Amino acid sequence: MSSEGAVLKGREAEVVAGVHQQLFVGGKWRDAEGQKTFSVEDPSTGETIAEVADASVADGKAALDAAVAAQADWAKTPPRDRGEILRKAFELITERADDLALLMTLEMGKPISESKAEIAYGAEFFRWFSEEAVRIDGRYAVAPNGATRLLTLKQPVGPCLMITPWNFPLAMGTRKIGPAIAAGCTMVVKPASLTPLTMLALADVLVEAGLPEGVLNVVTTTSTGEVMEPLIRDPRLRKLTFTGSTGVGRRLIEQSAEGILRVSMELGGNAPFLVFEDADLDRAVDGAMLAKMRNIGEACTAANRFLVHESVADEFSRRLAERMGAMTVGRGSEDGVQVGPLVEKKARDKVTELVADAVGSGAEVLTGGEVPDGPGWFYPPTVLAGVSLDAQVFREEIFGPVAPVFTFSTDEEALRMANDTEYGLVAYAFTESLERAVRVYEGLETGMVGINQGVVSNPAAPFGGVKASGFGREGGAEGIDEYLEVKYVGLAL
Ligand code: NAP
Repeated sequence: MSSEGAVLKGREAEVVAGVHQQLFVGGKWRDAEGQKTFSVEDPSTGETIAEVADASVADGKAALDAAVAAQADWAKTPPRDRGEILRKAFELITERADDLALLMTLEMGKPISESKAEIAYGAEFFRWFSEEAVRIDGRYAVAPNGATRLLTLKQPVGPCLMITPWNFPLAMGTRKIGPAIAAGCTMVVKPASLTPLTMLALADVLVEAGLPEGVLNVVTTTSTGEVMEPLIRDPRLRKLTFTGSTGVGRRLIEQSAEGILRVSMELGGNAPFLVFEDADLDRAVDGAMLAKMRNIGEACTAANRFLVHESVADEFSRRLAERMGAMTVGRGSEDGVQVGPLVEKKARDKVTELVADAVGSGAEVLTGGEVPDGPGWFYPPTVLAGVSLDAQVFREEIFGPVAPVFTFSTDEEALRMANDTEYGLVAYAFTESLERAVRVYEGLETGMVGINQGVVSNPAAPFGGVKASGFGREGGAEGIDEYLEVKYVGLAL
């Protein structure tokens, strides 16, 4: 274990010091080549809280070597044993939820209540896939001409590379690691360099749960592209799974074309949140609070554009502004805080710029909109009314606590506006009419839809997008198929 940040005290210092801050390769914790490290900062203060190993290209390759070496034995491990490891890890995470939540808050900024919600959500992927591990099946059929038998079986894809973002430091890992373990794949995981500590803590949990050496390898690095590209181009790698921005995703798809690598991409979003004139406004505002403020708006599923019928737009915006304006902003680990800082300066600058652009094109600020003085990357919950369709917020992911409200007058216009984006991850719609709900969810060009609810994420459901939001599904019965190959055997009689 390495040094704790001198700036932290008490339990905060203890949980950070309790995490291995090295690379995890072939079942061993080790330094990066040349003992290189990088700093992890607390976004509420901008101060360094840990120094983590900064992997080189050779370190990355060593991690893939370990994953490749472990693959054959791991694939032969009985499904029940693989499932039991996940189940044990689920229990350990649940037992340690308070410490893991504090660790996550310190590196990522969100309030403890949000971190606890993520720990519960993230752990649930392990429970779900512990149950799926023993349900990998195949088919048996008689060929139409009756002469042969057609068998299908499913086998693990092989060594996987997993690249995860900073906004859900645990859950974006568990929803890849869970199905890979269940399917019998080994893996190299590369967490975001802003938030590596939670993933390192998770590796410890999996070791304690009995995961054999080499099945999971964790590489932290700031030479990200340089270390990842040779792994993506290595013919021994069989799958790349990525969650992050569409721009980086595009580059990784190009790199993976060389090896015809199997790829899953969970990319950016620009979620529309539709409120029709017959919506129950209490429900719509509750849903909006979740869809916008979960994770401080730093979620690919965050409502990015509120599209509200012109007859209820003023009332909806006023109520939303009241609720958002009353939220307590502060350091995530302090009692009663509901809104933490954004993850880094660049993120806050982007939000500030988007709000200035919307105001410049005629939007009215109903609450928030001013960057506070003092340390940390705080931005207040902000509601913008009367936003022009030309404003950048209509097209770009905000990734912060800003709710822009646009208006529509017909259902056709609402759907057209909702689909007028390159993204297609999720959409939300609020209406009391069943017919309208069906027309709307069938017409939305997204991978997921929430009807009268502001959160869709659920480990038992297939999460994923269409269009520039990516391809592949995580969670649900579909999630494990991403880590399995289908083999067909023709059996002559
Ligand atoms: P990002 O900049 O794309 O980074 C994501 C991950 O990719 C990080 O681990 C990052 O490493 C790594 N990366 C960056 N450049 C790379 C390269 N050239 N080669 C290989 N890996 C590279 O995205 P982010 O800012 O962390 O995350 C926010 C984005 O993720 C948003 O667009 C959000 O919508 C999306 N997201 C999508 C989902 C979904 O399920 N659809 C879920 C959550 C988030 P470093 O940290 O070292 O740069």
